[in-house]
Amino acid sequence: MMKPGKVALLQVVVALLMLTVLPAAKAALTVHSLTIDHRDRPLGLDSSKPSFSWKLASERPATLQSAYELRVHEATSGKSMWSSGRVSTDQSLHVGYAGAELKPRTRYEWQVRVWDNHDRVSEWSAPSFWETGLMQTGDWEASWITYPWQENTDRSEPSPMLRRAFSNDCPVAGARLYITALGLYEAHINGQRVGEDYFTPGWTSYDKRLQYQVYDVGELLSSGDNTIGIRLADGWYRGYMTWEVQRNLYGDRLAARAQLRIQCRDGGERIINTDPEWTAAMGAIRSADIYNGEDRDLRLARTGWSEPGYDDRDWQPAIVYDGHTPPLVDSQSQPVRAKHVLHPIAMHQGPNGETIVDMGQNMVGWVRLRARGKAGDKIVLHHAEVLGPEGGLYREPLRSAQQRVSYTLADDQPQVLEPGFTFQGFRYVSIEGYPGELSLGDLEGVVLYSDMPETGHFETSSRLLNQLHSNIVWGQRGNFLDIPTDCPQRDERMGWTGDAQVFARTAMYNTDSAAFFSKWLADVRADQHDDGAIPNVVPDVTSKLKVRSLGGLFISRLAVTASGWGDAITEIPMAFYERYGDSRAVSDNYDSMKRWVEYQRDRAGSWLLNLWDRESWFNPDRHYIWSGSYTWGDWLAPEPASYTLVNTAYFARSARLLAEAARILGKGEDADEYTELYQNIRGAFQRRFYLDSGRLTEDVQGAYVLALAFDLLEPEQAERAADRLNQLVIESGNHLATGFLSTPQILPVLEKYGYLDTAYNLLMQREYPSWLYPISKGATTVWERWGSIQPDGSFGDNGMNSFNHYAFGAVGDWMYRHLGGISPLSPGYKIIRVAPHPGAGLDSASTSFDSPYGRIATTWRMRGDRLLLSVEIPANTRAQLHFPGPLHTLAKDGEPIQTGSGIASFSESDGKAVIELGSGRYQFSGAVQ
Ligand code: BGC
Repeated sequence: MMKPGKVALLQVVVALLMLTVLPAAKAALTVHSLTIDHRDRPLGLDSSKPSFSWKLASERPATLQSAYELRVHEATSGKSMWSSGRVSTDQSLHVGYAGAELKPRTRYEWQVRVWDNHDRVSEWSAPSFWETGLMQTGDWEASWITYPWQENTDRSEPSPMLRRAFSNDCPVAGARLYITALGLYEAHINGQRVGEDYFTPGWTSYDKRLQYQVYDVGELLSSGDNTIGIRLADGWYRGYMTWEVQRNLYGDRLAARAQLRIQCRDGGERIINTDPEWTAAMGAIRSADIYNGEDRDLRLARTGWSEPGYDDRDWQPAIVYDGHTPPLVDSQSQPVRAKHVLHPIAMHQGPNGETIVDMGQNMVGWVRLRARGKAGDKIVLHHAEVLGPEGGLYREPLRSAQQRVSYTLADDQPQVLEPGFTFQGFRYVSIEGYPGELSLGDLEGVVLYSDMPETGHFETSSRLLNQLHSNIVWGQRGNFLDIPTDCPQRDERMGWTGDAQVFARTAMYNTDSAAFFSKWLADVRADQHDDGAIPNVVPDVTSKLKVRSLGGLFISRLAVTASGWGDAITEIPMAFYERYGDSRAVSDNYDSMKRWVEYQRDRAGSWLLNLWDRESWFNPDRHYIWSGSYTWGDWLAPEPASYTLVNTAYFARSARLLAEAARILGKGEDADEYTELYQNIRGAFQRRFYLDSGRLTEDVQGAYVLALAFDLLEPEQAERAADRLNQLVIESGNHLATGFLSTPQILPVLEKYGYLDTAYNLLMQREYPSWLYPISKGATTVWERWGSIQPDGSFGDNGMNSFNHYAFGAVGDWMYRHLGGISPLSPGYKIIRVAPHPGAGLDSASTSFDSPYGRIATTWRMRGDRLLLSVEIPANTRAQLHFPGPLHTLAKDGEPIQTGSGIASFSESDGKAVIELGSGRYQFSGAVQ
């Protein structure tokens, strides 16, 4: 018999063992990171057939899902909506909902559990949820309302405020605010700002689709007296847009529509809608504009305006807005949020005695300023990306954009000042009129961008390369502000389609950009012209410009679409499918892709449009050579290829992508037709541009790059062309002569044809023009031009000179794929190619990417002539590792390699080891060639 004390002790020991051992056993196979339509627990999803994705975690090597079971129930009633039953499949991404019909304004919870190839079953995942939005237009009970006064619509006017006090007699169980605006809005309830989003409702093709948002506002409400308020601002809707400095492009009146639904504990519901019961007034914001900044006079602030008890007798009744309003759609992307706070690093006096503060990073957002002065003190901030020779802000590249924010103080109370309806692209800010002594601690840089999860990490032993990567990441942060913009500072900030398509793949490494691009592609489709043309910018504001000059006529009516720009509609959906494995990107965009290719075919075939191209007059190939129509060509290339070459190359490329898309969707006839079209264009391209000498008729880097990247030459021609490209680069002393379209492809092409050393020489080049050159000039973002600052310190052409333009940063894709060695072999990284390439004089590189299945990581380090490589492969995927050295020297965990423990097989090809891996973590070492 054991003594009671000992029994108790034993029980404790057993309990402790259970605590430590059992969870470990349970943790063996788990499901996590549940997302729906690429988002985490969204509110207001209107899709009737959303799709579910999850990730598996398993310490056991080579784990694959063998089955899943998914269940969905209505959150409040617990009513089951769908139980998939056990589905034998390894599909863990984009599983379409197949349950009962979803209702509007309803929260659904969902869970999933999985089985794996080791005969294990996971626990049910922690529940995730989504909430449907209003779904049907009819559910919008609220009226559009606006303020009653007249405005001078030729200039920025004070921001209107709308408010409604109401009493709520029921204890609040929960509440949702459904809201949108013509213009930008910011909602407040009982003195508190609703949500953390900025620039809502976001920028869409406003005349065709306008987003609304849904907020959980239960916590902000109480029983008794409540107040809701909405501030409006011009934003993209009616603020100044484009270099033509025009306003009111979508409309000239701001308006709001909101529906507040309060659920009472007794099961009842109270609804507060925007209607003429609301009142309107102007307040502290005297003007607010995306390009020009804000002017706030705190003496006119309506303190307490969104709180109960506020006296609004001098407010005027709001009125119903009966102008045109676009169809409302749910929000498909992540909202813009304040993502980082930067602290300035230095301060100096400018040439005019102004104080200039250096944020240490070219950033996008605004300055948060602490100040204390007296009533009437006016503080003025100007923002710029660079300093001029005298040490003052260099504002010329901003063109008409003022980037000016000012505050007039109301009293001597300490204030924290920041705008809300504008953003600036800047590293330096000048401050005038600051009361008292300004210290660095009085300022913060608030960095704003679309809140996409960061998925990429890239670090090497080269400080310069790391800075380049950082510049690329910051370039994206600054330009993924609700739409992909060209630049964030001058009077553009528009969704240039070409910039977006060249950078998309890099963006998809840096962040989970799936929701972001889904939303933007919907606008690309919405703005596509009837004849299939895809506008240069989306949302297409240029088509709304009033024509005032020949230049304006050209940009808004004649140069509507361009090769390499319009191809965003073929490039991005296909990149999306490759990187996220979601075929909806292909099916949703297929018709638009096809119309775009048909547009190209039509233009190429037009005798009239190609009239100036004498070579095509009597040429039987003329239907496949597209010389007419304006294009931007290989934009900003020091040595550009001709428009005809660029147009024709992209025509072939898009035809081929379309054929691939057709294949994915099982459209056999289309696949055949567009493959044939691609082959025909390819043949015509060869006859027109390839010479017997092995050169192209246009002996410039970009021409070779496009021809090779888009597979437009026969294999033997390609070898010779690649050789010539290599020579051209060497002859230039390893400098880039490429533009927006060919730059992303030059390193992949050199690598593919065996000129890796040349590729590395280009990548590591520090002299102008090159990727690293700007870093020697202090760049913290990617520049628009190779020489935005020239070697002699002077500025590039300031008519168009941005210091934050991501296009040339598209080299990031190759850095992840080639140096880090991570790329998809099948859609969504279900099969991963791991092929790191030590070189470029680097001692080490560490790269990771949170793929749709989970983290993929490589770290390599050179030890003499041996390479140490660690690899991480997520569950439910497998990988093909290409080790850059022979098999016989390869070791895993210090032992000769053998199958088992995640290694399915190994072999050697071309003197390099090829290993088939399952999920897990591995350490290899071996001699490198
Ligand atoms: C923009 C671009 C754009 C280009 C078209 C520029 O003004 O900033 O990046 O792609 O025009 O050529």
